[in-house]
Amino acid sequence: MAEPIQHNTVKLGAFQAQEKELVFDIDMTDYDDVRRCCSSADICSKCWTLMTMAIHIIDRALKEDFGFKHRLWVYSGRRGVHCWVCDETVRKLSSAVRSGIVEYLSLVKGGEEMRKKVHLSTKVHPFIRKSINIVEKYFEEYALVGQDIFENKETWDKILTLVPESIHAELQQGFQKCHNSVQRWEHLKRTVSTNRAVKNEKFGPWVEWEIMLHYCFPRLDINVSKGINHLLKSPFSVHPKTGRISVPINLQKVDQFDPFIVPTISQICHELDMVSTNEDDGDKENEAEPDTKRHTRDYKKTSLAPYVKSFEQFLEELDKSRKGELLRKSDAQRDF
Ligand SMILES: [Zn+2]
Repeated sequence: MAEPIQHNTVKLGAFQAQEKELVFDIDMTDYDDVRRCCSSADICSKCWTLMTMAIHIIDRALKEDFGFKHRLWVYSGRRGVHCWVCDETVRKLSSAVRSGIVEYLSLVKGGEEMRKKVHLSTKVHPFIRKSINIVEKYFEEYALVGQDIFENKETWDKILTLVPESIHAELQQGFQKCHNSVQRWEHLKRTVSTNRAVKNEKFGPWVEWEIMLHYCFPRLDINVSKGINHLLKSPFSVHPKTGRISVPINLQKVDQFDPFIVPTISQICHELDMVSTNEDDGDKENEAEPDTKRHTRDYKKTSLAPYVKSFEQFLEELDKSRKGELLRKSDAQRDF
């Protein structure tokens, strides 16, 4: 044992993390080749749908495929989201198992130089099938209308690189006659299915699924999840560039989450000033109360309140599990 102050006297590598949450980091900059509205650090309500889809897809898999109960999703404060999986068994997982989990959840492969990043085959894994079901709910409004991915020849040529060459000519012809992305998408789906039926081409609906996943599937930063040393900004910290608070996202309201109404530190300070001004003007009873009591209540009067509530609910569930586990262990010992 060494006191923290003596940390320099302990040799490097002597400290090993005993436990750590399994974490995921999804950053909008990793989608720059597939979003047309913004690039790098910028985000808007149109491309935020990418984060909405990512949360739904990853969270469903963590919950249903892996059985993880305690998943906290947090807005990073700028252009992405984090997920903290806090189940006791998960916190003790080795790096090798974490790598396995994140591999399972990764589908978009290859860097910028690689054009075709999603490869499916005749047998589609249930995880991918279920992810496609989620993407389907958003694809038209997000990709076809919002991002207008088939807007002109330049943009649809990019999509053609993801499609078998034997149907390129037919697609080009049809695209010229269509008026918008929705019609061009319908033309592509029709062409794929008629070519399969009539010419016995060896491709199926996965041609269109590959396009959907290429444009919409979550892009995880694998290295963040693999290790047990990688640090993420903690929930409720302030993002240094935007001043926004890194707030938990209520899983029941993922689709309503709006990063642009997340409070900034200056807004919270202003709201707190208003609270104390009002209290000074009003009843004097508060002065008799201890300071700590007042402070614990103050956040409830700011726009941070609903986010703190989500966080408290998350912690309560975690605590219930921990108590249940302790009880189970002591019962088992007694029976023994
Ligand atoms: Zn955008």
